[in-house]
Amino acid sequence: MKNDNKISLNEIKELVTNIFLKQGCNQENASALANTITKAEEDGSSSHGLFRLPGYVASLKSGKVNGHASPKVINKTPVILKCDADNGFASTSHEVALPLLAESAKKNGISVLSITGCYHFAALWPETEFLAKNNLVGFACTAFKPSVAPAGAKEPFFGTNPISMAWPKKNDHPVVFDMATATMAKGEVMIAARDGHMLPDGVGLGENGQPSNDPKDILKGVLLPFGGYKGSAISMMVELFAAGLTGDAFSYEAQENDNNDGGPPKGGEFIMAMNPEIIAGSNWEEHCDGFFQKLSAIKGVRLPGSRRHKNRNSDQYRFINEELLIKVKSYL
Ligand code: NDP
Repeated sequence: MKNDNKISLNEIKELVTNIFLKQGCNQENASALANTITKAEEDGSSSHGLFRLPGYVASLKSGKVNGHASPKVINKTPVILKCDADNGFASTSHEVALPLLAESAKKNGISVLSITGCYHFAALWPETEFLAKNNLVGFACTAFKPSVAPAGAKEPFFGTNPISMAWPKKNDHPVVFDMATATMAKGEVMIAARDGHMLPDGVGLGENGQPSNDPKDILKGVLLPFGGYKGSAISMMVELFAAGLTGDAFSYEAQENDNNDGGPPKGGEFIMAMNPEIIAGSNWEEHCDGFFQKLSAIKGVRLPGSRRHKNRNSDQYRFINEELLIKVKSYL
């Protein structure tokens, strides 16, 4: 952390809000983005916090994204919600639509939300964790632009296509996993390139199409899906849920429509909420707690999400790369 600067979470939130107000957002959109970025820094998800701010600003500056977006939610049926993001960042749609999704799933047992016309540049756990905190099981996925080679190929076709699921837990943080279906999120590869770290085997192919451990080389080449053909199939399903089922863009279509300003492409997000109280019955919490206790008791096992939750419980200061912080402050 030699070149990192100490800053409090409150300062991050205020700084980010002021930057977005200056760069073309109204209060609602600025504060939704500030919440997303601050939550990422709070949990140590550095690849989706302040690191993404230059991309968000670039998309506002290029006029691609509407900083005054006013998302509208309609009920297509009592359990199918559709949110038109009004060409805004996904964070604003989440603040408007997730409480409605939770309400519908609590009442009906299951409910799905398709968000269309949004720009998603963040981690997915805030969506699923919100649902789990409402005692619902959450699922979310979104596509991106081609950067991952399907199994057997050397050229990009899938996005890094993240998927997140969250499980509510009695008197505790929910169990949440959130992962790119690429072996590693592109943001993590970019940070490794910035910080001069080599990567483990299997993350990607270099410019010459051969396996590489050099993040700079991989960024010129292609990322690989996690787990070979199995991860490739899951990435394909993310495309189908986030684009086929929402009616929005597949990653290759998002690429065709994008102005490559450095920010996220326009696309859809699919989110599902399920109510275990209705589906499993009233003893679901005790039953699942027993499962988690047995799992956690195995030597070497930790539950997904526990690293982030531990970070969240630490003090209110975070260390941010000095060059990044200087760049971020230059947008004020
Ligand atoms: P990681 O590989 O770091 O982590 C994936 C998941 O595995 C996390 O839930 C993590 O929990 C869990 N995990 C990690 N190590 C262990 C372990 N030893 N035992 C149990 N669980 C473990 O994430 P990725 O690099 O794949 O993705 C990073 C982020 O990038 C995600 O938040 C994703 O949403 C985001 N992303 C966003 C995109 C977009 O288009 N918006 C595109 C692609 C990625 P924990 O957090 O506690 O470590």
